[in-house]
Amino acid sequence: MSILVVGTVAFDSIETPSGSAERVLGGSASYFAVAASFFSSVRIVGVVGQDFPQEYLDLFARRGVDLEGLAKKQGATFHWRGRYHEDLNVRDTMELHLNVLSGFVPNLPESYKDAEYVFLGNIDPSMQMEVMSQLREVRLLACDTMDHWIQGSRHELSRVLGRIEMLVINDSEARLLSGDHNIVKAARTILKMGPKRVLIKRGEYGVLQFSDSSIFATPAYPLEEVFDPTGAGDSFAGGFLGQLARSRDHSERGLRRAIVYGSVVASFAVEDFGLQRLLALSLPEIEERYRRFLQLTDFHT
Ligand code: AMP
Repeated sequence: MSILVVGTVAFDSIETPSGSAERVLGGSASYFAVAASFFSSVRIVGVVGQDFPQEYLDLFARRGVDLEGLAKKQGATFHWRGRYHEDLNVRDTMELHLNVLSGFVPNLPESYKDAEYVFLGNIDPSMQMEVMSQLREVRLLACDTMDHWIQGSRHELSRVLGRIEMLVINDSEARLLSGDHNIVKAARTILKMGPKRVLIKRGEYGVLQFSDSSIFATPAYPLEEVFDPTGAGDSFAGGFLGQLARSRDHSERGLRRAIVYGSVVASFAVEDFGLQRLLALSLPEIEERYRRFLQLTDFHT
């Protein structure tokens, strides 16, 4: 079972209270792909510039990520610079250079078009639309977005929301998208925009899942130290969809388990800068923390 992701493959420059990193491998598709690769094979659709080093491509290849859909274009790779506050749930985008991403039209390789599990990662909604239009056999279509696109491409984003099954989004972005401050009201408003489920990521406070008929809440795995929250959301989505593709269980119970797997993978992602922790991670470590998560939240036995 293979998962397709479209999103950014980026150079990230990050400052957190624990330190900083310059032009390390990042981007929504990168975090998602590495996170999902523990559970399933993954194909990336995206674009990088000529400055993108072979060494970074090799990192994906070592995790078995299929890069046929990753175009290399004349120009510079997408670059994001972010700075986190003492409260790590708050960050400022200091620089955002779309570079080769502006005007990029994704063209799916033939072998990608039958993808069943698809994640439209954080990227221009018109590119998310373009990818959707090329798919033939989707079983599960999930999507993420960010303040930048909510504010700048709302019309195109609303077309995407009308066609997807699940939206995975931050709490602050859910508020921005819906215009509601209360998170339950925000989720209800977003459900009316199209998706059947909304998963709201709340950083260190965990995840809420809403559908018309149910709400599920899980905490984040408690950590003594968080080095770099970048990519936690995409790692969550990668673990979540990866587990769904592995189990093929879309029941309420299957979805809840997948949410916990996503939370487990995200908890590892933040333990070091950039992708370093995920690249050193193993499936047994994930399974072990999943079991701890069960103990952590058990109040019924
Ligand atoms: P997350 O921390 O999960 O929200 O994702 C952070 C990643 O998103 C970083 O690796 C950035 O390269 C990438 N990113 C930042 N801004 C954007 C944007 N406007 N569109 C797409 N990706 C972005």
